[in-house]
Amino acid sequence: MLYHSTRDNTKKVTSAQAIVSGLAPDGGLYVPEYLPNFTLDEITELSKLSYPALAANVLAKYLDDYTVEELQSFTEKAYSQAKFAAEEPAPLVQLKEGTYLMELFHGPTCAFKDFALQMLPFLLSAALKKTGETREAVILVATSGDTGKAALEGFADVPGTRICVFYPDGGTSRIQRLQMTTQSGSNVMVYAVKGNFDDTQSGVKKIFTDKEFAAQLADNGFLFSSANSINLGRLVPQIAYYFSAYCTLLREGKINAGDKIDIVVPTGNFGNILAAYYAKHSGLPLGRLICASNKNNVLTEFISTGHYDRRREFFLTASPSMDILISSNLERLLYLLCGSDDSKLSAFMTALSKEGEYTIGAEMLAALQSEFSAGSADDERTFKTIRDTFEKTGYLADTHTAVGIAVCSDYVAETGSDTPVVIASTASPFKFAGSVLPAIGAKEDREYDDFEMLAALEAASNLTAPAALAGLKAKEERFTTVILPDEMKAFVEKWLTNNAK
Ligand SMILES: *Cc1c(COP(=O)(O)O)cnc(C)c1O
Repeated sequence: MLYHSTRDNTKKVTSAQAIVSGLAPDGGLYVPEYLPNFTLDEITELSKLSYPALAANVLAKYLDDYTVEELQSFTEKAYSQAKFAAEEPAPLVQLKEGTYLMELFHGPTCAFKDFALQMLPFLLSAALKKTGETREAVILVATSGDTGKAALEGFADVPGTRICVFYPDGGTSRIQRLQMTTQSGSNVMVYAVKGNFDDTQSGVKKIFTDKEFAAQLADNGFLFSSANSINLGRLVPQIAYYFSAYCTLLREGKINAGDKIDIVVPTGNFGNILAAYYAKHSGLPLGRLICASNKNNVLTEFISTGHYDRRREFFLTASPSMDILISSNLERLLYLLCGSDDSKLSAFMTALSKEGEYTIGAEMLAALQSEFSAGSADDERTFKTIRDTFEKTGYLADTHTAVGIAVCSDYVAETGSDTPVVIASTASPFKFAGSVLPAIGAKEDREYDDFEMLAALEAASNLTAPAALAGLKAKEERFTTVILPDEMKAFVEKWLTNNAK
């Protein structure tokens, strides 16, 4: 099966080539020529497998230039018990009759991005070999917190790769900073940048598009590559856990083969919910896909009206990983809604970048609304949901997950739906203890540092903070250099020369 750009479907590449490139040369995103199909019998067979085996079998249909055996050797490492603390990498927890949370935060960085970023390094190193690339891949990441650590953790000591992460100095929580600056591995580098996230991201983009610099590095045996969420190698691993959720319900006798379940996903970039859409169109019996946003509700408006408008106020919320106005992965859905018409899709994307908005026609809107519902929850509602959920069920949700729970309950109230529903639980509540602790009314009126916050949340919830977070306090910071945005390129150069192959 081949892949092509959303903006030009004539030039086809293998999945390995798509993973090495990240973004297509025309600025589009790589999409499959068609979505592979799983029969109900195959899905029933999958339900007998462990998570790594299930994931390998799901991935093999999308990435067919990799063998199942090859993929399984990756998934066994990526989703091992050493990496994922829970018995199951993606366990389901029943919130109430017919409502389940799929916990995606048991990986090394306590958020769902580990599912993709533990796999991407394996997929990428193999892709370099498959495409005959002998240069070493250099991954540059600009992060506002979560992605940087997940990428570092995934790429640390992976042969044939190096990773350098930039974060805005003072722009992350102390725990987020320590997660990055204490990272082990001989191929990793972390810099704090004096500026905000946008300065940091522009700096990385500038390095990526510097042709002279790329040529100079190529001479020295290096190739720039990206780990951001539009890379096909990040999207495909996310499809597997929707299969896993369905199979778990099947195995536990909660549903019969062929029964539909609805999915709720707290999302910003549309990546996680797009993976559910791909799963559905590959034969997984999913019903409605419910898109949950925070106060940055650009997707809620789009799904309700067909009008996408990024020209709006940007809010910093308690669910920061969803504070996004340009939802990049939506382009992949839009392409399919356009009837795979690459010029029609390109026109929408041009309008978005030039005018900051576009409106889809009635036919596309009807197709969108026949599968997706949407809703949003602001911070106040999010905190209330955390408190109510904790009081009524004992379940402690993080702020992102709480947005999903709130939107789910609105959806059920509006529609009276009694279809079983799975809500993606995207982060450990301990990762956002600063918001979760006051939400359940357990914070006294004094200053807490991040680690006191963890301890107080443990005491209030009777849960244990993940060792990966609590253990940071004892770790030594390896990376403490603060640089200016203008110095980013020079520091990359210095890092690569000092650590020549
Ligand atoms: C990144 C992130 C999200 C949003 O994911 P999308 O890729 O935008 O769907 C939600 N919750 C958490 C905790 C995240 O880190």
